[in-house]
Amino acid sequence: MIIDCHGHYTTSPKALQTYRDAQIAALTDPSRARTTDTVNISDGDIRESLEQAQLKFQRERGTDVTIFSPRASAMAHHIGDATTSLHWSQQCNDVIHRVCRLYPDNFVGMCQLPQSPGAPPSGCIAELERCVNELGFIGGNLNPDPSGGHWTAPPLTDRSWYPLYEKMVDLDVPAMVHVSSSCNASFHTTGAHYINADTTAFMQFLTADLFKDFPALRFIIPHGGGAVPYHWGRYRGLAQDMKRPPLPELVRDNVFFDTCVYHLPGIELLLKIVPVDNILFGSEMVGAVRGIDPETGQYFDDTKRYLDQVTWMSAGDKRKIFEGNARKVYPRINKALRARG
Ligand SMILES: [Zn+2]
Repeated sequence: MIIDCHGHYTTSPKALQTYRDAQIAALTDPSRARTTDTVNISDGDIRESLEQAQLKFQRERGTDVTIFSPRASAMAHHIGDATTSLHWSQQCNDVIHRVCRLYPDNFVGMCQLPQSPGAPPSGCIAELERCVNELGFIGGNLNPDPSGGHWTAPPLTDRSWYPLYEKMVDLDVPAMVHVSSSCNASFHTTGAHYINADTTAFMQFLTADLFKDFPALRFIIPHGGGAVPYHWGRYRGLAQDMKRPPLPELVRDNVFFDTCVYHLPGIELLLKIVPVDNILFGSEMVGAVRGIDPETGQYFDDTKRYLDQVTWMSAGDKRKIFEGNARKVYPRINKALRARG
């Protein structure tokens, strides 16, 4: 089985964005009440939005199940306040739940958290619990920068995050560290802000004893870990200078990287540098880069193709990356997959 740990509903039906547009418009027009209306989307709309996109790519590329979350760039936690984020997150998570119910063989849910700049992360606990306990989700996307590129939040090792981490451990769910759109013109959303955030999160983890406080807390750093594998020597050196544990020890049970790296040399570097037990297959399709690479004639984000081309890695290690590691990092997926038969 091949589990893609990183997919977003980037093709969601228009009605979801219509809801969001109305919600944003109401923020600047006090005469318009906040709405908690549900989004008007039919099962047919959902099927249509997936059949020629995520489902088609799963079939063509030979992957089985995608850990599926709302569109990351649309989380936009910087818009409005915590209530705005809560309503928006509930709508997005409910739509993901419908996708998972319509296609239980293809998708397992991962939630958007209702974060908001300045609001305590503990405000996300109720929605995380709802998604895991009631909707059957297996994790959530955690935004280290709800300000959208201005980095006003304390580092992920700050104790203000701890109540949310306690709940994650309690529910036995990991979080993918995932920023949203950038409202800082200096940082392109998917080209700079995403990669910056991945790198930043790793450095934050390196500097403090978060995982001594939470030995069972697990994070996936997406997009191949940002710049981390390429600069592994720098981080090893920094860890040594700062009297921190060696990196393999630091990441062992707590920090995992996906394979959303869109060329073979990058994938090979990731596989050579990061311990195999800390790598999970991911593609982020349909996502950040949608085109075909003229050098290969294949989609940039067809990351399975790169892994298949790696000849020096054992079949057992590849099975860990494609399936085994995801089952360990997202233990609730085992029940979800058993239910599909
Ligand atoms: Zn993503």
